[in-house]
Amino acid sequence: MFELEKIVRPNIQSLKAYSSARDEFKGEAEVYLDANENPFGTLNRYPDPQQKSIKEKLSEIKEINTNQIFVGNGSDEVIDLAFRIFCEPGKDKALTFSPTYGMYDVSAGINDVELIKQPLLADFQINLNQLQPYLEMDEVKLIFICSPNNPTGNIINKEDIEYILENFKGVVIIDEAYIDFSTKESLVAEIKNYPNLIVSQTFSKAWGLAGARVGIAYASSKIIDLYSKVKAPYNVSSLNQNAVLVSLNNQTKFEIEKNIILIEREKVITQLSQLPMVKTIYPTEANFVLVEVEKVNELYKDLVKKKIITRNRNSVINNCLRITIGSPEENQKLINALQEL
Ligand code: PMP
Repeated sequence: MFELEKIVRPNIQSLKAYSSARDEFKGEAEVYLDANENPFGTLNRYPDPQQKSIKEKLSEIKEINTNQIFVGNGSDEVIDLAFRIFCEPGKDKALTFSPTYGMYDVSAGINDVELIKQPLLADFQINLNQLQPYLEMDEVKLIFICSPNNPTGNIINKEDIEYILENFKGVVIIDEAYIDFSTKESLVAEIKNYPNLIVSQTFSKAWGLAGARVGIAYASSKIIDLYSKVKAPYNVSSLNQNAVLVSLNNQTKFEIEKNIILIEREKVITQLSQLPMVKTIYPTEANFVLVEVEKVNELYKDLVKKKIITRNRNSVINNCLRITIGSPEENQKLINALQEL
Protein backbone atom coordinates (compact mmCIF):
# COMPACT_ATOMS: atom_id res chain seq x y z
CA MET A 1 0.00 0.00 0.00
CA PHE A 2 2.86 2.42 0.78
CA GLU A 3 5.08 2.99 -2.27
CA LEU A 4 7.99 5.31 -1.60
CA GLU A 5 8.56 6.10 -5.29
CA LYS A 6 5.00 7.43 -5.53
CA ILE A 7 5.38 10.02 -2.81
CA VAL A 8 8.89 11.36 -3.43
CA ARG A 9 9.06 14.56 -5.48
CA PRO A 10 10.12 13.52 -8.99
CA ASN A 11 13.14 15.84 -9.18
CA ILE A 12 14.57 14.42 -5.94
CA GLN A 13 14.61 10.83 -7.25
CA SER A 14 17.14 11.69 -9.94
CA LEU A 15 19.55 13.63 -7.71
CA LYS A 16 22.83 12.09 -6.61
CA ALA A 17 24.10 12.37 -3.05
CA TYR A 18 27.14 14.63 -2.69
CA SER A 19 30.37 12.73 -2.66
CA SER A 20 33.82 14.31 -2.37
CA ALA A 21 36.94 13.12 -4.17
CA ARG A 22 38.13 12.05 -0.74
CA ASP A 23 35.34 9.48 -0.44
CA GLU A 24 36.80 7.55 -3.38
CA PHE A 25 40.05 7.09 -1.47
CA LYS A 26 39.80 4.44 1.20
CA GLY A 27 42.17 4.64 4.14
CA GLU A 28 44.30 7.53 5.34
CA ALA A 29 45.95 9.62 2.64
CA GLU A 30 49.19 11.51 3.33
CA VAL A 31 48.59 14.62 1.33
CA TYR A 32 45.21 16.27 0.83
CA LEU A 33 45.23 18.68 -2.10
CA ASP A 34 41.71 18.01 -3.35
CA ALA A 35 39.39 20.43 -1.55
CA ASN A 36 41.09 23.84 -1.68
CA GLU A 37 41.56 23.83 2.07
CA ASN A 38 44.21 25.86 3.87
CA PRO A 39 47.08 23.68 5.12
CA PHE A 40 47.41 25.67 8.39
CA GLY A 41 45.28 25.61 11.50
CA THR A 42 43.19 23.17 13.51
CA LEU A 43 39.79 23.58 11.85
CA ASN A 44 41.26 23.82 8.36
CA ARG A 45 39.77 20.56 7.04
CA TYR A 46 36.18 19.99 5.97
CA PRO A 47 34.21 17.69 8.25
CA ASP A 48 33.20 14.17 7.21
CA PRO A 49 30.07 14.81 5.09
CA GLN A 50 28.72 11.36 5.98
CA GLN A 51 29.41 11.60 9.74
CA LYS A 52 30.60 7.98 9.69
CA SER A 53 31.95 7.86 13.26
CA ILE A 54 28.66 9.07 14.74
CA LYS A 55 26.66 6.63 12.62
CA GLU A 56 28.88 3.71 13.60
CA LYS A 57 28.48 4.49 17.28
CA LEU A 58 24.71 4.99 17.01
CA SER A 59 24.35 1.82 14.97
CA GLU A 60 25.95 -0.13 17.85
CA ILE A 61 23.77 1.53 20.48
CA LYS A 62 20.47 1.31 18.57
CA GLU A 63 21.19 -2.05 16.90
CA ILE A 64 20.42 -0.86 13.39
CA ASN A 65 22.50 -0.38 10.24
CA THR A 66 24.53 2.74 9.57
CA ASN A 67 22.59 3.20 6.30
CA GLN A 68 19.39 3.64 8.34
CA ILE A 69 20.77 6.77 10.05
CA PHE A 70 20.82 10.42 8.94
CA VAL A 71 22.71 13.01 10.98
CA GLY A 72 21.26 16.50 10.71
CA ASN A 73 21.89 20.07 11.79
CA GLY A 74 19.52 19.59 14.71
CA SER A 75 16.33 17.60 14.32
CA ASP A 76 14.91 20.80 12.84
CA GLU A 77 16.86 19.84 9.70
CA VAL A 78 15.20 16.41 9.73
CA ILE A 79 11.82 18.20 9.68
CA ASP A 80 12.75 20.70 6.99
CA LEU A 81 14.29 18.14 4.63
CA ALA A 82 11.17 15.96 4.90
CA PHE A 83 9.17 18.80 3.32
CA ARG A 84 11.75 19.18 0.58
CA ILE A 85 11.83 15.46 -0.20
CA PHE A 86 8.13 14.70 -0.11
CA CYS A 87 6.07 17.88 -0.64
CA GLU A 88 5.68 19.74 -3.92
CA PRO A 89 5.52 23.47 -2.98
CA GLY A 90 2.09 25.02 -3.46
CA LYS A 91 0.48 21.63 -4.04
CA ASP A 92 1.10 18.93 -1.44
CA LYS A 93 0.02 19.01 2.19
CA ALA A 94 1.25 17.80 5.55
CA LEU A 95 -0.66 17.13 8.76
CA THR A 96 -0.02 17.37 12.47
CA PHE A 97 -1.94 17.37 15.74
CA SER A 98 -2.27 20.57 17.73
CA PRO A 99 -1.07 21.81 20.11
CA THR A 100 2.39 20.64 19.16
CA TYR A 101 5.93 21.70 18.30
CA GLY A 102 5.87 24.93 16.29
CA MET A 103 8.59 24.06 13.80
CA TYR A 104 6.32 21.83 11.69
CA ASP A 105 4.29 24.95 10.92
CA VAL A 106 7.35 27.16 10.38
CA SER A 107 8.98 24.64 8.03
CA ALA A 108 5.70 24.07 6.16
CA GLY A 109 5.43 27.83 5.60
CA ILE A 110 9.02 28.13 4.36
CA ASN A 111 8.42 25.25 1.95
CA ASP A 112 5.04 26.61 0.76
CA VAL A 113 3.19 23.56 2.05
CA GLU A 114 -0.21 23.71 3.74
CA LEU A 115 -0.08 22.16 7.23
CA ILE A 116 -3.40 20.67 8.36
CA LYS A 117 -3.72 20.93 12.15
CA GLN A 118 -6.03 18.47 13.77
CA PRO A 119 -6.83 19.12 17.43
CA LEU A 120 -5.76 16.48 19.92
CA LEU A 121 -8.51 15.08 22.16
CA ALA A 122 -8.96 16.28 25.76
CA ASP A 123 -6.46 13.64 26.93
CA PHE A 124 -4.03 14.90 24.25
CA GLN A 125 -4.38 11.73 22.18
CA ILE A 126 -5.13 11.50 18.45
CA ASN A 127 -8.74 11.50 17.21
CA LEU A 128 -8.48 8.63 14.70
CA ASN A 129 -12.07 9.02 13.45
CA GLN A 130 -11.44 12.60 12.48
CA LEU A 131 -8.12 11.68 10.90
CA GLN A 132 -9.48 8.89 8.70
CA PRO A 133 -10.38 10.94 5.57
CA TYR A 134 -6.92 12.55 5.51
CA LEU A 135 -5.17 9.18 5.51
CA GLU A 136 -6.60 8.53 2.06
CA MET A 137 -5.90 11.92 0.45
CA ASP A 138 -3.20 11.73 -2.22
CA GLU A 139 -1.96 15.28 -1.61
CA VAL A 140 -1.27 14.62 2.10
CA LYS A 141 2.32 13.39 2.02
CA LEU A 142 3.54 13.76 5.60
CA ILE A 143 2.15 13.31 9.12
CA PHE A 144 4.12 14.68 12.06
CA ILE A 145 3.52 13.05 15.45
CA CYS A 146 5.40 14.50 18.38
CA SER A 147 5.80 11.90 21.16
CA PRO A 148 6.37 12.86 23.94
CA ASN A 149 4.42 15.83 22.66
CA ASN A 150 5.63 19.38 23.14
CA PRO A 151 4.00 21.23 24.97
CA THR A 152 1.62 18.67 26.53
CA GLY A 153 4.31 16.22 27.69
CA ASN A 154 2.42 12.97 26.97
CA ILE A 155 3.34 9.99 24.82
CA ILE A 156 0.99 9.27 21.90
CA ASN A 157 -0.57 5.77 22.08
CA LYS A 158 1.53 3.24 20.21
CA GLU A 159 -1.55 1.44 18.80
CA ASP A 160 -2.78 4.71 17.26
CA ILE A 161 0.62 5.35 15.67
CA GLU A 162 0.64 1.81 14.29
CA TYR A 163 -2.85 2.29 12.88
CA ILE A 164 -1.68 5.44 11.09
CA LEU A 165 1.48 3.75 9.78
CA GLU A 166 -0.61 0.89 8.41
CA ASN A 167 -3.33 3.01 6.84
CA PHE A 168 -1.54 6.13 5.54
CA LYS A 169 -0.09 6.21 2.04
CA GLY A 170 2.49 8.84 2.96
CA VAL A 171 5.37 9.12 5.43
CA VAL A 172 4.94 9.38 9.20
CA ILE A 173 7.56 11.28 11.21
CA ILE A 174 7.61 10.48 14.91
CA ASP A 175 9.44 13.30 16.66
CA GLU A 176 11.07 11.72 19.70
CA ALA A 177 13.08 14.75 20.82
CA TYR A 178 12.10 14.01 24.46
CA ILE A 179 11.99 10.20 24.38
CA ASP A 180 14.98 9.75 26.71
CA PHE A 181 12.95 11.25 29.55
CA SER A 182 10.09 8.80 29.01
CA THR A 183 9.36 5.43 30.56
CA LYS A 184 7.97 4.28 27.20
CA GLU A 185 10.08 2.74 24.47
CA SER A 186 11.27 4.54 21.39
CA LEU A 187 9.80 3.43 18.05
CA VAL A 188 13.24 3.25 16.43
CA ALA A 189 13.09 -0.56 16.31
CA GLU A 190 9.88 -0.27 14.26
CA ILE A 191 11.70 1.13 11.22
CA LYS A 192 12.29 -2.51 10.27
CA ASN A 193 8.53 -3.10 10.12
CA TYR A 194 7.30 0.13 8.53
CA PRO A 195 8.82 1.46 5.28
CA ASN A 196 6.96 4.77 5.78
CA LEU A 197 8.32 5.52 9.27
CA ILE A 198 10.91 8.16 10.17
CA VAL A 199 11.87 8.49 13.84
CA SER A 200 13.68 11.70 14.71
CA GLN A 201 15.73 12.21 17.85
CA THR A 202 18.12 14.89 19.03
CA PHE A 203 21.24 15.56 21.06
CA SER A 204 19.69 18.86 22.23
CA LYS A 205 17.67 17.56 25.18
CA ALA A 206 18.75 14.60 27.35
CA TRP A 207 22.26 14.69 25.83
CA GLY A 208 22.63 18.37 26.76
CA LEU A 209 24.06 19.48 23.41
CA ALA A 210 21.50 22.02 22.15
CA GLY A 211 24.35 24.37 21.22
CA ALA A 212 25.93 21.77 18.97
CA ARG A 213 22.84 21.41 16.72
CA VAL A 214 22.85 17.69 16.04
CA GLY A 215 19.69 15.68 15.35
CA ILE A 216 19.14 12.23 13.94
CA ALA A 217 16.63 10.53 11.63
CA TYR A 218 16.21 6.76 11.72
CA ALA A 219 14.38 5.20 8.77
CA SER A 220 14.63 2.64 5.98
CA SER A 221 17.87 2.91 3.98
CA LYS A 222 15.78 4.09 1.00
CA ILE A 223 14.46 7.09 2.94
CA ILE A 224 17.91 7.80 4.38
CA ASP A 225 19.33 7.80 0.82
CA LEU A 226 16.83 10.53 -0.04
CA TYR A 227 17.97 12.59 2.95
CA SER A 228 21.59 12.22 1.78
CA LYS A 229 20.61 13.51 -1.65
CA VAL A 230 19.07 16.74 -0.39
CA LYS A 231 21.22 17.67 2.60
CA ALA A 232 23.96 20.30 2.39
CA PRO A 233 27.28 18.46 1.92
CA TYR A 234 28.86 19.58 5.20
CA ASN A 235 25.73 19.95 7.30
CA VAL A 236 27.36 19.13 10.66
CA SER A 237 30.62 20.87 11.59
CA SER A 238 33.60 18.87 12.84
CA LEU A 239 33.42 20.62 16.24
CA ASN A 240 29.83 19.47 16.60
CA GLN A 241 30.52 15.95 15.37
CA ASN A 242 33.29 15.70 17.95
CA ALA A 243 31.05 16.99 20.74
CA VAL A 244 28.54 14.23 19.96
CA LEU A 245 31.23 11.55 19.83
CA VAL A 246 32.63 12.63 23.20
CA SER A 247 29.14 12.40 24.70
CA LEU A 248 28.34 9.06 23.09
CA ASN A 249 31.54 7.69 24.59
CA ASN A 250 30.49 8.79 28.06
CA GLN A 251 27.07 7.29 28.53
CA THR A 252 27.46 7.21 32.30
CA LYS A 253 27.45 11.01 32.38
CA PHE A 254 24.33 10.99 30.19
CA GLU A 255 22.54 8.58 32.55
CA ILE A 256 23.53 10.47 35.70
CA GLU A 257 22.42 13.86 34.39
CA LYS A 258 19.21 12.49 32.92
CA ASN A 259 18.36 10.85 36.26
CA ILE A 260 18.93 14.11 38.12
CA ILE A 261 16.46 15.80 35.76
CA LEU A 262 13.92 12.99 36.32
CA ILE A 263 14.24 13.24 40.10
CA GLU A 264 13.94 17.03 39.89
CA ARG A 265 10.86 16.66 37.68
CA GLU A 266 9.04 14.73 40.41
CA LYS A 267 10.18 17.21 43.05
CA VAL A 268 9.02 20.21 41.02
CA ILE A 269 5.65 18.54 40.36
CA THR A 270 5.14 17.89 44.10
CA GLN A 271 6.10 21.46 45.01
CA LEU A 272 3.97 23.00 42.27
CA SER A 273 0.96 20.98 43.38
CA GLN A 274 1.10 22.70 46.79
CA LEU A 275 0.86 26.22 45.35
CA PRO A 276 -2.51 28.04 45.43
CA MET A 277 -2.29 29.43 41.86
CA VAL A 278 -1.68 26.00 40.32
CA LYS A 279 -4.88 24.37 39.01
CA THR A 280 -3.71 21.37 36.97
CA ILE A 281 -0.35 19.72 36.40
CA TYR A 282 -0.51 17.55 33.31
CA PRO A 283 1.34 14.22 33.44
CA THR A 284 4.69 14.48 31.66
CA GLU A 285 7.17 12.12 30.02
CA ALA A 286 9.52 14.96 29.05
CA ASN A 287 11.89 17.46 30.70
CA PHE A 288 9.14 20.02 31.04
CA VAL A 289 5.75 20.23 32.65
CA LEU A 290 2.56 21.85 31.39
CA VAL A 291 0.78 23.65 34.21
CA GLU A 292 -2.63 25.28 34.26
CA VAL A 293 -2.56 28.32 36.53
CA GLU A 294 -4.70 31.25 37.60
CA LYS A 295 -4.10 34.50 35.69
CA VAL A 296 -1.43 33.05 33.44
CA ASN A 297 -0.40 36.28 31.69
CA GLU A 298 0.14 38.08 34.99
CA LEU A 299 1.95 35.14 36.51
CA TYR A 300 4.23 34.85 33.51
CA LYS A 301 5.11 38.57 33.75
CA ASP A 302 5.62 38.39 37.51
CA LEU A 303 8.13 35.59 36.98
CA VAL A 304 9.91 37.62 34.29
CA LYS A 305 10.22 40.47 36.81
CA LYS A 306 11.92 37.99 39.10
CA LYS A 307 14.25 37.09 36.20
CA ILE A 308 12.69 33.68 35.64
CA ILE A 309 11.61 32.86 32.10
CA THR A 310 8.99 30.18 31.50
CA ARG A 311 6.93 29.64 28.36
CA ASN A 312 3.49 31.19 28.28
CA ARG A 313 1.36 28.77 26.22
CA ASN A 314 -1.93 30.59 26.87
CA SER A 315 -2.38 31.12 23.13
CA VAL A 316 -2.41 27.37 22.42
CA ILE A 317 -3.78 25.92 25.67
CA ASN A 318 -5.83 28.20 27.88
CA ASN A 319 -4.15 29.34 31.10
CA CYS A 320 -1.10 27.14 30.66
CA LEU A 321 2.59 27.68 31.28
CA ARG A 322 5.21 25.25 30.06
CA ILE A 323 8.02 24.99 32.57
CA THR A 324 11.35 23.34 31.78
CA ILE A 325 12.98 21.28 34.52
CA GLY A 326 16.27 23.03 35.29
CA SER A 327 19.09 22.36 37.72
CA PRO A 328 18.16 21.79 41.39
CA GLU A 329 19.12 25.42 42.13
CA GLU A 330 17.12 26.83 39.24
CA ASN A 331 14.05 24.80 40.19
CA GLN A 332 14.32 25.98 43.79
CA LYS A 333 14.46 29.60 42.58
CA LEU A 334 11.29 29.02 40.57
CA ILE A 335 9.45 27.50 43.52
CA ASN A 336 10.64 30.24 45.89
CA ALA A 337 9.51 32.91 43.43
CA LEU A 338 6.09 31.31 43.07
CA GLN A 339 5.73 31.02 46.86
CA GLU A 340 6.46 34.73 47.22
CA LEU A 341 3.77 35.76 44.70
N1 PMP B 1 11.29 18.49 18.23
C1 PMP B 1 10.71 18.96 19.32
C2 PMP B 1 9.44 18.35 19.78
C3 PMP B 1 11.29 20.02 20.02
O1 PMP B 1 10.68 20.50 21.11
C4 PMP B 1 12.50 20.57 19.56
C5 PMP B 1 13.20 21.71 20.24
N2 PMP B 1 12.56 22.47 21.09
C6 PMP B 1 13.05 20.05 18.40
C7 PMP B 1 12.44 18.99 17.76
C8 PMP B 1 14.27 20.62 17.78
O2 PMP B 1 15.39 20.07 18.26
P1 PMP B 1 16.83 20.31 17.65
O3 PMP B 1 17.54 21.15 18.64
O4 PMP B 1 17.37 18.95 17.50
O5 PMP B 1 16.68 21.00 16.31
